[in-house]
Amino acid sequence: MRRPLLAGNWKMYKTLAEAEATASALKVRLKDVAGRDVVLCVPFLYVEAVGGLLLDSEIAVGAQNLFYEEKGAFTGEISGPMLKSVGCDYAIVGHSERRQYFRETNQDVNKKAKAALKAGLTPIVCVGETLQQREDGVTESIVTTQINESLEGLNKGDMLGTVIAYEPVWAIGTGRTATPEQAEEVQALIRNLLAHAFGKDVAEQVRILYGGSIKPENIYELMRQPDIDGGLVGGASLDADSFEKIVRFEDQRP
Ligand code: PEP
Repeated sequence: MRRPLLAGNWKMYKTLAEAEATASALKVRLKDVAGRDVVLCVPFLYVEAVGGLLLDSEIAVGAQNLFYEEKGAFTGEISGPMLKSVGCDYAIVGHSERRQYFRETNQDVNKKAKAALKAGLTPIVCVGETLQQREDGVTESIVTTQINESLEGLNKGDMLGTVIAYEPVWAIGTGRTATPEQAEEVQALIRNLLAHAFGKDVAEQVRILYGGSIKPENIYELMRQPDIDGGLVGGASLDADSFEKIVRFEDQRP
């Protein structure tokens, strides 16, 4: 049985004071939560402060990106070892907003995933089709290429230390969630691809998250799907009350 993982992605929201207030509220609210992993992926600038605040809690801290070089003359970039040195445990890699606005390719995502693993971070590798691609009927081939190219060269141990997030681009920040069946169909495909590349035993252990307009009202049904092992939550993770409800997904039965 895979341990659920609920990851918040705060994107480019909150001042430091707001970030600390939300993290402190979640620390109290989730004190007794068990049987799942919880991580807040915060802006780089707040990783140390929020991580420090959450040190003796059930919540880990993550980043939303990293650069693939360890060090060097790369003005404005942040490396895996830098993140690790301030207490970071996870890094989102290849989020669709980075693919869309910063032109990140599967090859960049691959280098970033490897850099995260080398630094001792758990990469959360994001894949997902656009609305146009879904309407054109190429979801399967797009996601297959994203998975194969983004994970190219990883060994079994690397894969066991990696998390995948299926995030249909048309569902991110739009309020339009994929149905549990739509999400499950692609997540099962991803698990098959992992089995093909890394063996069934590894594929059965890797956590595949769903992301795209998750709310307290839809998390229960999503989590009932056999290949949905958690959620990557954007907007609804900004509010302590709604993120707590999502983390306690079993209690949200309609
Ligand atoms: C995300 O940021 O990965 C995301 C899924 O955002 P939202 O939950 O707001 O759709």
